[in-house]
Amino acid sequence: MYDILIVGGGPAGLTAGLYNARARMNVALLEKMAPGGQVLTTDWVENYPGFPDGISGFELMDRMKGQPEKFGLEIRSEDVLRLEFRDDRKLVTTNRETYETRALILACGASWKKLGVEGESNLMGRGVSYCATCDGPFYRDQPVAVIGGGDTAVEESLFLTRFASRIYHVHRRDELRAVKLLQERAMAEEKIEFVWDSVPLRILGADGVEGIELRNVKTGETSRREVQGVFIFIGTLPNTELVQGLVDLDDAGFVLTDDQMETSVPGVFAAGDMRSKSFRQISTAVGEGAAAAHGAEKYVEDMQGV
Ligand SMILES: Cc1cc2nc3c(=O)[nH]c(=O)nc-3n(C[C@H](O)[C@H](O)[C@H](O)COP(=O)(O)OP(=O)(O)OC[C@H]3O[C@@H](n4cnc5c(N)ncnc54)[C@H](O)[C@@H]3O)c2cc1C
Repeated sequence: MYDILIVGGGPAGLTAGLYNARARMNVALLEKMAPGGQVLTTDWVENYPGFPDGISGFELMDRMKGQPEKFGLEIRSEDVLRLEFRDDRKLVTTNRETYETRALILACGASWKKLGVEGESNLMGRGVSYCATCDGPFYRDQPVAVIGGGDTAVEESLFLTRFASRIYHVHRRDELRAVKLLQERAMAEEKIEFVWDSVPLRILGADGVEGIELRNVKTGETSRREVQGVFIFIGTLPNTELVQGLVDLDDAGFVLTDDQMETSVPGVFAAGDMRSKSFRQISTAVGEGAAAAHGAEKYVEDMQGV
């Protein structure tokens, strides 16, 4: 039986693994793809502390993986398919076998909702972005498009005014869903031009984004905007299928925890993008991974009467 099993090898899971392995817990991490998580899909990271000149997403995650391995973290390439909680034992079934553990740390991340249009997937990380905080500074004095009508889309559009020369804010309706205050700010911002009743048809470009083709849903007319970046904010999907019905989730399906990162089930912790919170970044995932590791360690020690 393990002391602690970690599901997910992104920044949150790898940090939890670092703390637990260094504390000499009997711990393993289960990751269904290459360890690294979403950061592997980003070319360059400029807002992770300690790297003043920035660092490639690949190198950052290679380092984050190497550090816990140095302390003996076992990383298994397995897809976790089912969880079962039996008082002080948790059963974790993967595509290979079933493990038992005292404590469990969930760090399965989240996925951004995709538009599903031509050009989106092949230009992701090369002009197509789902995070203005992450990628906005790369578009200094360049025109960009923002897609979406909710709070996040409008907040990110406003953030992009610090860098971009022009922002075409595309929305499929003729009014925004975002709160009034944000709407007023965006309307007053001269760099933002709203393109109403419109949906993206294609993102144009070969090695980088060169433009976007739009269709007006009322008139059927198509038009193009020349932009170097397309920021898509049509929703975030938590990777929480595994815990549906097992732990408490918020209305959007993200895992609720206390400030020790413990879920509604004692001994089951969650960290990173799958948690219910407002800011999803590498640094927040890392902090929560450390807190979850600490909470899990305490839980195991209490169980063993240490
Ligand atoms: C394109 C892009 C650029 C970004 N740029 C930045 C940036 O510049 N700065 C910044 O701070 N943030 C950035 N972010 C956000 C950042 O990547 C996330 O906030 C962070 O990766 C969250 O870490 P996590 O560990 O919670 O989840 P993730 O990174 O999503 O990792 C979760 C891991 O869990 C694994 N997993 C899921 N389910 C299972 C299962 N059932 N069994 C086994 N494994 C499973 C997944 O394969 C994945 O590897 C960016 C995100 C994207 C998409």
